Amino acid sequence: MTPVTTGSAGEPVDGWPPLRPELRGIEPYGAPQLDVPVQLNVNENPYPPSAACAAAIGEAARAAATRLNRYPDREFVGLREALAGYLATDGGRGLTAAHVWAANGSNEAMLHLLQAFGGPGRTAVSFAPTYSMYPEYARDTHTTWVVGRRESDFALDLDHAVAVVAEHRPSVVIVPSPNNPTGTALPQAAVVRLAEALDGSGLLVVDEAYAEFRRAGTPSALELLPDHRNLVVTRTLSKAFAAAGARLGYLAAAPEITAALRVVRLPYHLSAVTQATAVAALGFAQELLGNVDRLRVERDALVGWLRGEGLDVADSDANFVLFGTFVDRHAVWQGLLDRGVLIRETGPDGWLRVSVGTPEEMAAFRQALTEVLDRSSVPTGAEGEGRR
Ligand code: PMP
Repeated sequence: MTPVTTGSAGEPVDGWPPLRPELRGIEPYGAPQLDVPVQLNVNENPYPPSAACAAAIGEAARAAATRLNRYPDREFVGLREALAGYLATDGGRGLTAAHVWAANGSNEAMLHLLQAFGGPGRTAVSFAPTYSMYPEYARDTHTTWVVGRRESDFALDLDHAVAVVAEHRPSVVIVPSPNNPTGTALPQAAVVRLAEALDGSGLLVVDEAYAEFRRAGTPSALELLPDHRNLVVTRTLSKAFAAAGARLGYLAAAPEITAALRVVRLPYHLSAVTQATAVAALGFAQELLGNVDRLRVERDALVGWLRGEGLDVADSDANFVLFGTFVDRHAVWQGLLDRGVLIRETGPDGWLRVSVGTPEEMAAFRQALTEVLDRSSVPTGAEGEGRR
């Protein structure tokens, strides 16, 4: 794809344009969108919607098009009911349309949370390494951003997390489960302890963008919603539902929380086409989750293969795997790209993240990585056993 614009928000010349000072020189968020054969860099679902699913979405969009002279349903009640129905199949109990909120991607849903519950004089917290958009929600809502740390195996250090909460009294804590870029899921006991530590003062947002990929026996925080009034669970159609292009993310929470989000959203923020598309896609949940199962099998095989190669690999409950460690990870990333395989240079120093693709894409990745590690001069291995 040819970039239309590139670069950062530069230094204003003679004070023009009148950019907020904290935005000067900032690069817009986003991984490279390169036209290469094997794209494993943004955790997309490699399986496009089936012909039947695409036809249903097309028909729903056509019907919506006949009414495009009118604004869409501002409360998107049909979509909220459909989302509540889907969540009931994955651990959500007693959820109604009033418990559900949606936006153009879960990024926007979380921005709404910070718009309503963050703000000047307030603090939001997460624990690194984690999803790099969270500080941007804080920046854009003038919320103070505090970042704690994780254990060396990327698990949450609960005592540390509770201490950060006690010290900073955040109004919002965001923790993804599984975490991006590490793939680490949050144990239920950790969700309970953090929610209790925050009760009365803050929200605990569990970002479950990748939850459908979790391994058997890993629970969803949805199960805990009835017992914690300050718990918010966010989800998206971008990953498991193979609808990243549709831009639909959502959350479940107590009705008083979703009611507050109505105050900060722009009017008619979800287009009629988006609403129709999402409802149609939800009708294909079973079929789409079948592909999720295939990806989970492929993910586990990938973890096993990488470990067999002597690499360090973080346990993953997601549709991506963090592996390393490399003295020069950029050289590995570049070596793969030279072979037509695009992955993501992200996470702690020395680590790389690869999304799980089709069996053919994973074969291409394995082949390319083998070549890069065995046949090139890329130095591998940091410290410790099992590293190359
Ligand atoms: N949360 C996490 C952890 C993510 O990795 C992503 C996407 N990369 C999102 C939220 C946002 O996804 P979307 O806006 O497409 O729903």
